[in-house]
Order: sequence, then C-alpha cells, then structure tokens
Amino acid sequence: MEQVDCVVIGAGVVGLAVARALALRGREVVILEAENAFGTITSARNSEVIHAGIYYPTGSLKARLCVAGKAMLYDYCASHHIAHQRCGKLIVATSEAQVATLEGIRAKAAANGVDDLRLLTRDEAQAMEPNLQCHAALLSPSTGIVDSHGLMLALLGDAENAGAMLAVQSPVLSGAVTAEGIQLEVGGDTATTLLANTVVNCAGLTAPDMARRIAGMPADRIPPQYYAKGCYFTLAGRAPFSRLIYPVPEAAGLGVHLTIDLGGQARFGPNVRWIDDIEYHVDPADADSFYGEVRRYWPGLADGALQPGYAGIRPKISGPDEIAADFRIDGPAAHGVPGLVHLFGIESPGLTSSLAIGEMVAGMV
Ligand SMILES: Cc1cc2nc3c(=O)[nH]c(=O)nc-3n(C[C@H](O)[C@H](O)[C@H](O)COP(=O)(O)OP(=O)(O)OC[C@H]3O[C@@H](n4cnc5c(N)ncnc54)[C@H](O)[C@@H]3O)c2cc1C
Repeated sequence: MEQVDCVVIGAGVVGLAVARALALRGREVVILEAENAFGTITSARNSEVIHAGIYYPTGSLKARLCVAGKAMLYDYCASHHIAHQRCGKLIVATSEAQVATLEGIRAKAAANGVDDLRLLTRDEAQAMEPNLQCHAALLSPSTGIVDSHGLMLALLGDAENAGAMLAVQSPVLSGAVTAEGIQLEVGGDTATTLLANTVVNCAGLTAPDMARRIAGMPADRIPPQYYAKGCYFTLAGRAPFSRLIYPVPEAAGLGVHLTIDLGGQARFGPNVRWIDDIEYHVDPADADSFYGEVRRYWPGLADGALQPGYAGIRPKISGPDEIAADFRIDGPAAHGVPGLVHLFGIESPGLTSSLAIGEMVAGMV
C-alpha cells in the first residue's frame, strides 16, 4: 500500500483547481482521473461563460463563490494568458410582464454584490444589438467567456509545478475510513491501494455515488444524485450578436440562451431534460422547440439554421420538483470523517467558481 498526503478524485476544472490550491500550500497531491485525459466530462460540455453571480440566493455558496471566483478568474486569465473576453450579457424581457422581473433580478444581483447591472430600454438595447427584439433588457458588463480547456491546462501546470501528479485511467473504485487514514482502491492498468491523510471527492456527476463507496462515510450525509441534461444547437455562419443574450431564467436552468465562443461562433442552449443514465445524444428533433424560444428574442433566425451541437449534464442533488440545491462542500464538520471532503452538486456556476472553490477546500483541510 502506497502512502500519500492528499488525493483529489477527478480531474475536471474543480478537481484541478483544488489540486492546485493544495499543492501551492506545499501539500503532496495525487490527482486520480478515471478517463484517459483531464477535463473530458462536464468541464468540456458547458457554455464556457464567466458568470457575474446574478441569480443565486444571497449568501449561498453559489452566490459567494461565483462572485469571488469571477474576480479571481479574470485575474488568473490575464496573468496566465488564457483566452477570455469580458463581452457582457443582456438579459432580455420578451414580454411586457417580464420587465418587472428584470427589476427583481437587478435587486437580487445587488444583494449578491453585483452592483453594475444596468436596466436598458428597448431602444438602448437595440442600439447595442440591432438584431435583438425585446421590451427591455438588463446589461451585465462583468459577464464573459473563457477557454475552459486553456484554463484547465494552466491549473494543471501550476499544480504540477508545485509538485502535484496527475494519474489518468485511474478510477477510484472504493474506499474505507481507517485509523491510519483513508484507504482507496484504484483500478486501471496499474491497480493499486493508496492510504491518504486527505481525500477530496471532485467526481462531478458521480460524486454522491463515490461517497457511497467509501466504507465509514455516513450514508445519511450523502445527497441523492440526479442528472439534468442540456443540449446545444449551433448556428452556421457569423453570430448575430456581440454579447451573450439570455431570456429571463426558468426553473432548472437559465433558459435557451445564446452564447458565443472565442472563435465567434454562436450556440443556443442548453435546454433541460431530466435523465436516469449518463448519455450525450443530441436529438435533432429538439431543434423544433429551440426555434420558438430563440425567435422570442431573435425573430431573424432562419428555418434550418440550427445544427445539433453537443450536450452536457448538470450534476444535480435536488430533483425536478424541488428548489434548486446549493453547492455542497462537505468537510468533517458536515459528516464527521477526518480528512475527507466531498463536493456535491457542483453545477453552474462551477466553472466560474473553480478558483474560489479550490481556495475554500484548501482552507478546510
Ligand atoms: C450544460 C452545462 C452548462 C454549463 N455552463 C456553465 C457556464 O457557462 N459557466 C459556469 O461557470 N459553469 C457552467 N457549468 C457548470 C460547470 O461546467 C461545472 O460546474 C464544472 O465543469 C464541474 O467541474 P467538476 O470538476 O466538478 O466536474 P467534471 O468536469 O465532471 O469532472 C469530474 C471528473 O471526475 C472524474 N471521475 C468521476 N468518477 C471518478 C472516479 N471514481 N475516479 C476517478 N475519477 C473520477 C471524471 O472522469 C471527471 O473527469 C455548466 C454545466 C453544464 C452541464
């Protein structure tokens, strides 16, 4: 049995940020990743938006870590030459009734420390984005986009420079809490048993399942695991807008919005489909509902212009009819096991929050 100080399970953007923060504090870190490369699951299947921190309940981890993470992320992108753009976003009221909702969104954002939102009239919004149809809009100047793969590469580089090691094709199969530390059974070609002082479970979609496979972890402290799939459709040709365009948010997601990647390509999505098993198929028939939703703010969308893109799955810990759960970053105070931290329900804004989550976890252990 090999002994290590810290093990991070999962090399998505969050696991990499946690590993970096631990390694920069001088801890010995091994990152165990089941796949054959880092960042191929949810961290490669999202909108790549740097969120401002607008919608989340005030005081929640989502609100606090998003606002803190956004500032850290812009600084980090600048200092590490990671492609990004502070392009801004418009939240659009597509009916007169939604105009009042925009005021509520602005108030919530201000309570979260995002006090730069500006309410625009239809004319002001259309002067910025001539293709836009709306009754009014909210401008969020601090929203942006980032090259998520470049970000992960930089996080891994920092972690490795500080002595961390990434082992790919190394799925953690099970674990056990012992008097000496946390024992982990690792599969793959070089199957091994590790004994660690600290284990951080950053397994994303299957983090609750991973927690259940650690003997000695109290089962009543593990949340249920739900999946909400989101599909994207891409637009052939140049993007009709230069800012991100979001409708007023809906129950389990942010509505079918328009984002732009750093290459200037527009994509619409993600929609929300609750599923039982992980699969990423994009059904071309879903485009039908996208046309209607998008034309509420962009009537110029031509028939046949949308192509199936890709899908991602939100790692939910609350079900379809429940109030959206907050991030859960559960250390010994939450479950009583020394040295063990679980990250549950790290859906959006997990990418934006990643550096702040890393700092928080490193501070806990
Ligand atoms: C559709 C969609 C859109 C989104 N848009 C945005 C956005 O615009 N902005 C934003 O801030 N956030 C966004 N998010 C959220 C963001 O993508 C996630 O919060 C973030 O990527 C989560 O990173 P992670 O490292 O926790 O998970 P993941 O990227 O899923 O990484 C987990 C890793 O753990 C590995 N793993 C799992 N089990 C094991 C095991 N037993 N042993 C070893 N390794 C294991 C997996 O292979 C994987 O590599 C979006 C999410 C979705 C689904």
